Amino acid sequence: MATLVINCGSSSLKYAVFDNKEALITSGKHERLVVNPDTGESHGEAVTSILEKCRAYEITGIGHRVVHGGDRFHQANLINDEVLAAIEEFIPAAPMHNPYSLAAIRAAQKAWPDVPHVAVFDTSFHSRMPRRAYTYAIDHTIAEKHNIRRFGFHGISHQYAAGVAAGFLQRPMDELRLITLHLGNGASASAVEFGCSTETSMGNTPLEGLVMGTRSGDVDAGVLMNLLRTGEFDVESLDNMLNRKSGLAGLSGISNDLRELETAAADGNKQARLAINVFAHRARKYIGAYAATMGGVDALVFTGGIGENSASMRARILQRLEFMGVMIDEDKNLDASIQADNQFAVISTPNSRVDVIVVKTNEELMIARETQKVAAAQKKSAVAASAIDEIELPPIPIAVSARHCHLTAETFAALFGEDAEPTPLKDLSQPGQYACEEKVTLIGPRNKLEGVRLLGPLRNVDQVEIARTDEFRLGVDAPVRNSGQVSGSAPITLEGPAGIVNLTEGLICARRHIHMHPDDAALYGVQDKDEVSIAIVGGDRDLIFGDVLIRVKESYKLEMHIDTDEGNAAELGRAASGELNQSDIDEPADDDIYRNVAIGKKLEL
Ligand code: ADP
Repeated sequence: MATLVINCGSSSLKYAVFDNKEALITSGKHERLVVNPDTGESHGEAVTSILEKCRAYEITGIGHRVVHGGDRFHQANLINDEVLAAIEEFIPAAPMHNPYSLAAIRAAQKAWPDVPHVAVFDTSFHSRMPRRAYTYAIDHTIAEKHNIRRFGFHGISHQYAAGVAAGFLQRPMDELRLITLHLGNGASASAVEFGCSTETSMGNTPLEGLVMGTRSGDVDAGVLMNLLRTGEFDVESLDNMLNRKSGLAGLSGISNDLRELETAAADGNKQARLAINVFAHRARKYIGAYAATMGGVDALVFTGGIGENSASMRARILQRLEFMGVMIDEDKNLDASIQADNQFAVISTPNSRVDVIVVKTNEELMIARETQKVAAAQKKSAVAASAIDEIELPPIPIAVSARHCHLTAETFAALFGEDAEPTPLKDLSQPGQYACEEKVTLIGPRNKLEGVRLLGPLRNVDQVEIARTDEFRLGVDAPVRNSGQVSGSAPITLEGPAGIVNLTEGLICARRHIHMHPDDAALYGVQDKDEVSIAIVGGDRDLIFGDVLIRVKESYKLEMHIDTDEGNAAELGRAASGELNQSDIDEPADDDIYRNVAIGKKLEL
């Protein structure tokens, strides 16, 4: 039982075969592939030769790396007509990658028609970036017409590196704020906030952001217009200049290879020194920016050829980050060159507030993992599909939760007096939870919100949950978080009859979620932390909520929680309920959407 991974680049094709215990069986690389088969080896020929080499193995799944899946795919996907159409649709956005991926997929499908083929996208990991992060500040009608937004790339590598770092820290990714830096020939940074990429430096194309081997990264768009106006450039020559003649190569005039630049810089070459300085400065700038957007950072993660191998570049990037708690052990940094069998190295000191971790990237392994996951889910859903008509799953009650707060004993005492106790008013549907008589006033920079209900019992951390509309009223910018994820969230001032408390963090917009008892989870075929989509029935308007988090605990009672904005959007009456739905949320609502389906791709993380 083996998984074949095909990683199709613009001029290279890598492949790897893993057994089902993630051990590498064989791998190889075809380089300097050309588009015209008359002048050398083409992608098609490379695929054929790989297929020949892999005949000996019992291939049970094939994973294809696909650079551009747009915002369509939140995760790896079984390749079907819809996936093929999307890869084709994004050819203009990724002309050097998507056509070759398509060719490789078609050749492999022909050779292995009976095994699942899975597309693993470079864009998926970034597909849940918040709107404020992916939106360019241009005329929105033009942006919508041409789908101009930030997508981000290198997602497979960022996700893998973040996973390895979380493993080292022995904490789940959804408790961590990480900044991952993939520094290779292409380079990008990502803010990985509680398991989700919430910012990344590459944008609509892989040209934006950091300095790269031959790509410029960020450039003022005004410069491009001025260059076009000179008449010396047209679109093609500008494209060539920015994608192939810029970056380290363009700045130094020597090479895109940092090794050569480091040698030249040591010999006193001024342009090589400048190239290195610009590269490091840009990366450091993004680290600062992402620490700010996440409200803090637990670990910095370096990966890619430069990130893994250049101790001097890492040291340069990390200079003067002590203010945010980054302390580097110089010796560890020098020794961190990663051995092939060494997944990662830590280069920060034990007392560094922020861990700094060097991770050997392994996109092929990540693709194999995703492929096995999708193939297993497919098997499971095929079994479930055959039983589906017989199972009637109960609908899920939906509760619209008004703004409310959870307080610590200390904050409660400061607001309501030393001797006060929370006064239970009414039991809530979640066992042990109750609404209290007590209410507080939220004071934001812009306005106040009065009468915000306290929920009991008291907790270990203060948490105030509001809706998006409340944000604008208060004049604050609160992140969308799962309950409990308050570190680095927004500050808020609370006022009670006995006093005022300034919370430095604790204000969030709660992410929609479903509480489930383990028995419910088994019934619906989901697990804690799965993400599902839910069709709303019983409201005045058909609506499907994607991206709903499953939360499973012994003490939970089946119920979906959404906030007032979401309730209003769905025009929900009092007794609305939703049904788990596996259909793609982009599809128009039809009867099928309201079928109770317990297992499907949407239920996989
Ligand atoms: P790609 O993005 O094409 O996959 P890699 O991640 O393999 O590229 O990174 C290749 C780059 O890594 C090289 O161009 C070189 O600049 C850099 N690199 C590799 N080894 C070293 C090293 N020992 N010192 C400095 N730079 C290195």
